[in-house]
Amino acid sequence: MPLSEIQTRVAAAATAAGRAPGAVQLIAVSKVQPLTRVVAVLEQGHRLFGENYVQEAQGKWPDLRARFGAVQVHMIGPLQTNKAKVAVDLFDAIHTLDRPSLAEKLARLAQDRGTCPQLFVQVNTGAEPQKTGVLPADADAFIATCRAMDLPLAGLMCIPPEGTDSTPHFTELAAIAARNGLAGLSMGMSSDFEAAIAAGATHVRVGSAIFGARA
Ligand SMILES: *Cc1c(COP(=O)(O)O)cnc(C)c1O
Repeated sequence: MPLSEIQTRVAAAATAAGRAPGAVQLIAVSKVQPLTRVVAVLEQGHRLFGENYVQEAQGKWPDLRARFGAVQVHMIGPLQTNKAKVAVDLFDAIHTLDRPSLAEKLARLAQDRGTCPQLFVQVNTGAEPQKTGVLPADADAFIATCRAMDLPLAGLMCIPPEGTDSTPHFTELAAIAARNGLAGLSMGMSSDFEAAIAAGATHVRVGSAIFGARA
């Protein structure tokens, strides 16, 4: 699907939800896509991308930033603590802060560098054992822990279980964010971004609908 069509759908969903068209940021998820497809989207003027793997992003974005200028790249995949240093140099935001050890590492890096990417706490709203993210019941305490470390929390992120209605998960994430005074909601992918926007998403992460199926 062309990028412009997704942009139109994002804006329409925002309007339908009574929100400003610019209230939702479209993150084009470019993980494991052929470079030609990524370049095509950059050439159309898009400047916000999501990646899942530190090493892949490291091999791609320094060159693309040199060619296309200021591009924001957000980390949306699980982050190993030993890759945190590379990640803070590479990414403008990290959506997958999910454990105290990573928070501590990021806080140390932030102190050393005097700056830190925007952070989203990932919540495992479906309590799926194979997924990362804090459990909903632990979210308030973890958010408080991160704030005590002076980490710049922008919001929350979730990936609802496959094959279920995403809306209850989006609603729960929005409720946790609201009671903790967090404005950012990273939720919604190719199959459910309009439902996410209806539930208050500020960042939707759309991959295959923009770039085509991943190999
Ligand atoms: C891959 C991925 C996406 C994009 O998925 P699509 O279904 O291709 O839109 C969004 N969020 C996360 C966390 C992902 O890993």
